[in-house]
Amino acid sequence: SLSVPAQPVIPFIEGDGIGVDVTPVMREVVDAAVLKAYGDTRKIAWMEVYAGEKATQVYGEDVWLPDETLQAVSEYLVSIKGPLTTPVGGGIRSLNVTLRQQLDLYVCLRPIRYYDGTPSPLKSPEKTDMVIFRENSEDIYAGIEWAAGTPEAQSLIAFLRDTMKVSKIRFPETSGIGIKPVSREGTERLVRKAIQYAIDNGRPSVTLVHKGNIMKFTEGAFKVWGYELARREFGAEPLDGGPWMRLRNPRTGDDIVLKDVIADAFLQEILLNPEDYDVIATLNLNGDYISDALAAQVGGIGIAPGANLSDSVGIFEATHGTAPKIAGQDKANPGSIVLSAEMMLRHLGWNEAADAIVRGLSGAIRAGRVTDDLARLMPDAQSVSSSEFGRCIVA
Ligand code: ATP
Ligand code: MG
Repeated sequence: SLSVPAQPVIPFIEGDGIGVDVTPVMREVVDAAVLKAYGDTRKIAWMEVYAGEKATQVYGEDVWLPDETLQAVSEYLVSIKGPLTTPVGGGIRSLNVTLRQQLDLYVCLRPIRYYDGTPSPLKSPEKTDMVIFRENSEDIYAGIEWAAGTPEAQSLIAFLRDTMKVSKIRFPETSGIGIKPVSREGTERLVRKAIQYAIDNGRPSVTLVHKGNIMKFTEGAFKVWGYELARREFGAEPLDGGPWMRLRNPRTGDDIVLKDVIADAFLQEILLNPEDYDVIATLNLNGDYISDALAAQVGGIGIAPGANLSDSVGIFEATHGTAPKIAGQDKANPGSIVLSAEMMLRHLGWNEAADAIVRGLSGAIRAGRVTDDLARLMPDAQSVSSSEFGRCIVA
């Protein structure tokens, strides 16, 4: 329910490494799709903002993430970015993590869809069609950890042993320590977004993926809180006595099944029975593994799109890294950031332009005119440059 002007300002971060190859292609494809869908009644006003290595060139040596960039991204609400180099040394662990934390981007959204003709290890890859809602602010990924042998780790261990009487496992003072916080609020806002997405998009099920059989008070609680939220806010009722639930989609009148699966079993399920799964809601670490595993089933990280969302801000992004070996050579696959832009257009409600991008991209793949990462796995394909792939999509 964004209110979108006819010429929205969209900040973009070109990104480092292959960002220079893929981001300009993305802009050309988006401009062409918007023109095709709306003539000149709508147009994106691109605004370059800086982060990563390019920011250090523009703003000076230590400025990896300028305040102006954070401001633009939160003020204009919707933005898009290429991959960023992680600074070595210094206080920043990762620019992506910093962005997420600063803007409270608690959802990492990764749609997994198969484009006909893409190389896949599966016999029937077209059965894979899922949307992953990965919690992005909590869990063992929160970055609360201490190296083995540090005074912090040692005093924590002493506290756990002496005061909390933790003795049941091997727990030497030389252990490194990481903390896994999972809260009811954090779980609820993620699961709420996933269920709402299923409602808005007429999806038949939402699956909570967790390791609650082992980690009862974090991952187990995630499952319990997820079901409770569905009951309280969406009127879900137990299905055949539970624990699975069913809720009615108020838009379509159809049922949405809310189920849960243990994470390790789920990784088998996505290979064996991908058609049984649809919208996925999961914790941070599980979501990381699952996103990449599923991306590999449908063509790999070169064409897997993603977005990081808060309640107000959305940053759409290439999910791959900077791939320095092929950077600047017009070889990288722009598919990931192009499909992220497609998600961005849907987020704006510009579905006709988003549809045009999907048609263009699947057409280019079916014609076998793709970048090298895909071409070398497709027997009849012809390898083309990043920019040529962009032109094929537009054509
Ligand atoms: P970083 O250190 O930023 O993560 P990386 O090289 O590890 O950089 P990844 O995204 O992790 O980048 O990718 C691993 C490898 O996959 C790359 O080295 C590259 O060979 C390939 N790759 C990733 N993205 C693309 C792409 N868009 N097009 C072609 N190949 C890609
Ligand atoms: Mg990498």
